Amino acid sequence: MSERVFNFNPGPSTLPLEVLKEAQKDLLNYANTGMSVMEVSHRSKEFQAIVQEAEEQIKELLGLGDDHRVLFLHGGASTQFSMIPQNFLTEDTVANYIVSGSFAQKAYKESVKVGQTHLAGSTKDVNHNRIVGTDEVTLSDNPAYVHITSNNTIFGTQWKDFPDFGDVPLIADMSSDILSKPFDASKFALIYAGAQKNLGPSGVAVVIIRKDMLEKVPESLPSMLRYDIMAENNSLYNTPPSFSIYMVNLVLKWIKKQGGLEGIAAHNEEKAGYVYDAIDNSDAFYAGHAEKPDRSLMNITFRLPNEDLEKTFVTEAAKKGLAGLKGHRSVGGIRASIYNAMTKEGCKALADFMDEFRLANK
Ligand code: PMP
Repeated sequence: MSERVFNFNPGPSTLPLEVLKEAQKDLLNYANTGMSVMEVSHRSKEFQAIVQEAEEQIKELLGLGDDHRVLFLHGGASTQFSMIPQNFLTEDTVANYIVSGSFAQKAYKESVKVGQTHLAGSTKDVNHNRIVGTDEVTLSDNPAYVHITSNNTIFGTQWKDFPDFGDVPLIADMSSDILSKPFDASKFALIYAGAQKNLGPSGVAVVIIRKDMLEKVPESLPSMLRYDIMAENNSLYNTPPSFSIYMVNLVLKWIKKQGGLEGIAAHNEEKAGYVYDAIDNSDAFYAGHAEKPDRSLMNITFRLPNEDLEKTFVTEAAKKGLAGLKGHRSVGGIRASIYNAMTKEGCKALADFMDEFRLANK
């Protein structure tokens, strides 16, 4: 390929072209330091300003104030699966998990290793083709917290309204839909996300934590796993993934330029609409995996009449510059990941290709 393609990979995934160009411009000499941002000390005033700005921008986009901190941590979203119970699960409390997909299941399994863990709801029986209804959730006694996964990357389902469990801390893995729409972030005790879908490159996980949660952290935990230590040190307790954080900061500026979360949400709804319309107007040639009310605006999953056609679809699409469409083996078929940075043109090109392919192969 001599040109950039429309990249539908699930993560790492497409980044805004504007952001990549900006990084390219700065690559050899960041802010007149005479160094790349990769070569600048993480203790320098230039780098500290990046971390501070990134924290402020996330809080501003989410409408959060002094009650919250934003941390930039190593180890991807998967390290958060174990850090959460290690920091918040005590001997006399129970961690509650709502399992709406594979990553939710992984988070649940890590908690089981740490302490008492309760499966508060699951859609495993229907291969996670929908979100667990609030009326299907049963919490344990003495819940330490409830954990949900806001968007199920593999299955293509998304929570549209978040549940409310009163005083029980609500924790969400938002790896695949963070900052894709406005929502009331103040309802959450902790939100986390691996950056490599909606926020930037891989290598950093973003954690948004309500300050009262920091007081619950046991001193016995290793320092690198303690949210309170990470917060006290402004995410600079050790050398952070500095280039990834710099990229996240650029992506946050780009989100603000798109009209913040309202602007991004309108753009996401419009572009997902092209692809879902191509499914819905296909006379059942394309069969969506997710139930309609729970369809994700970030990952669109669908099957074709048989596996041979699915393979041909992926190969032919790639030839037209539509890359990364093969679905995950748990669902099969096709998955189009259309995070914030995927353009309308990309989604239109995919929808047009779907129509052409259907007419040629029905
Ligand atoms: N949670 C969700 C919802 C994900 O989609 C992913 C990765 N695809 C993860 C967690 C794991 O993220 P990481 O690879 O950063 O550990």
